Parts: sequence; C-alpha cells; structure tokens
Amino acid sequence: MGPEFQLIDAFVAAAAASPRGPRGPGDDAAVLPRGRGEICVTVDAVVEGVHFRRASSRLEDVGHKALAVNLSDLAAMGARPRWALVALGVPRGFRIADARRLGAGFGALARQSGTALVGGNVTRAPGLALTVTVGGEVAPGRALRRSGARPGDRVWASGTLGDARLGLALLERRGGPEARRLRGAPRLARMAIERQRRPVPRLALGAALVGVASSCIDLSDGLVQDARHVAAASGVALDLDGGLLPVSRALVAAYPDGRARARAAASGGEDYELLFTAPAGREAAIRRLSGRLGLELTRIGEVRRGRGVHLRGTGTARVHGFDHLA
Ligand SMILES: [Mg+2]
Repeated sequence: MGPEFQLIDAFVAAAAASPRGPRGPGDDAAVLPRGRGEICVTVDAVVEGVHFRRASSRLEDVGHKALAVNLSDLAAMGARPRWALVALGVPRGFRIADARRLGAGFGALARQSGTALVGGNVTRAPGLALTVTVGGEVAPGRALRRSGARPGDRVWASGTLGDARLGLALLERRGGPEARRLRGAPRLARMAIERQRRPVPRLALGAALVGVASSCIDLSDGLVQDARHVAAASGVALDLDGGLLPVSRALVAAYPDGRARARAAASGGEDYELLFTAPAGREAAIRRLSGRLGLELTRIGEVRRGRGVHLRGTGTARVHGFDHLA
C-alpha cells in the first residue's frame, strides 16, 4: 500500500462519518439508498493559494470549510444533506497527522449536519486541494431556485454581511486600517476571522424556506454579485438598500463611515449567508422563522420589473464581488 492510501485512510478515519449513513467508503464505489425525494448534487473545490494559505489556516478549518461551502449550496436549494465524496490533492511532505487534522475538521461538521462521508480518493498535487461533492434530498418539485423571484417580492438576507471579507483583511494585512481600528476590540476581530475560517452553512434556514421563499441563493461571491444571478435567472431587477444591509459590530468598528461599511457588506464574499426573495405576504412568517431559528433575517430590498441589481446608499463607488485571494 502506498502512502496515498494511508493518507486517505487517516482522513476518513478522522472524519468518522455518521454511523447510520449509507455504506462506504471501503468498496470500489459507494452504494446509496434510493431516497423518497429528489437529489440535489453539487461540487466545489478549496485550493491552497487560491482559497486559503497554509500559513494563516489551520488544517481543521480547511477541512471544515471544504464541506461547509458545499453544504451552503444545498442550503440554498432547501435540501437536507445526506452524503459527501472527497477528492484530496496533497503536496509532498503532507503527513498522516495532517490528514487526520483535515479529516477532524471535515468530520465534525459532517456529523453535526447529518452528512455521511461515503467515499474518497487521493492524488499528489502541487498544493493542498479538497474537492468535495455533496448530495442532499428535497421533496419532489420543491427545491428553491434562483429563477422564482417576481416583481413585488421582498428581498431578504440572513445573518450579517461582510464579516468573512473583514476576517480575511485582518489575516492578510495585519497593519491595515481594519486591523488598526479593531486593535482595541480583540473579540470582534476574532469573530470576523472565525467567520472567514469556519463559515456556518444555513441548512435549517434553507429547509424552512421551502414553500416560503420564491427564490434563493447562497452568498459566496458577495451580495451584489450573487444577487445578479437571481435577477438574471428570474428576469427581474433587485433594488437593494445599502442602509438596510445587516452588519455586525465588528464591521461597524472596522468601517466607521456608513457608506464604506455598506460597500463592505455589499461586496464582501464568503459569508455563506442566504439571500432569498418572498412574496410580501410572507413577511410575518419570515419574522417568526427568524425567532425560531435564532437567526437574524433582514429585509434589504424589493423585486421589480427590469434587469440587474441596483444598490442605493453606498455612494458612487462601484461595488465589486469578491475574488477570493485576488
Ligand atoms: Mg452557491
């Protein structure tokens, strides 16, 4: 057995997927039970030097994030996660202990979310890369889509926006203006860094929005960038109010100027919150849902006839989506 097998074995053992999950890994292919609903499947990669740097990341966090970004896509569809497949690319010098730490971060989120790790593969690569495929289940015909927004619907966002981007700025530019302004508030700084390293997929919210939301997307590239996908798929315009964007105390401290703050909230990527639209009559149900989940849900705009995303209250500067480490 070559060292590659030992690496994937160490990863899988540390990930210790849900014992009641479908069979696998261990055979040539995983055997999955036929579900009652429809299956949502998605794949995403987390790559060293593009999505994270080894120097500023713990391997447990990389394992967590590789699964979290995929689960976030299932959340956006309103699907419940069932299984995951992992393809690992590992550089020379990657040790068994490293594979265990990667697996431990992946496994903690897998167990918490009811995701069974059903198979894996490993190859040599110039840098560490995890490509994760996840499958989830949703009732037939009920998956949330990007194409369902209609004029008159309200636009909503979960949680707070811009924190993950702020966390990256704090990690990458220790002498930067954000780091200087947060020097006296280490707890706020840690919160933002945590959101960058360990995003929380909004699975319970996504599942609860089935039958409530008219469209949904997860916020991976930044609010405006991702909202454009909804506008295009639905053939409508989204009017967003920069003054209504939900922000954390960390963002307020890092960007004292309101317009700069709104721009940070509108352009920051990797928050993995959900953006969704719903008919105006659903507002009370959404506020009840917010209370039940203990998750802030904020009305940030409206859907109207037209095209594109229109953001008020951020000054004249253009708001760009977030290009990972670019
Ligand atoms: Mg997505």
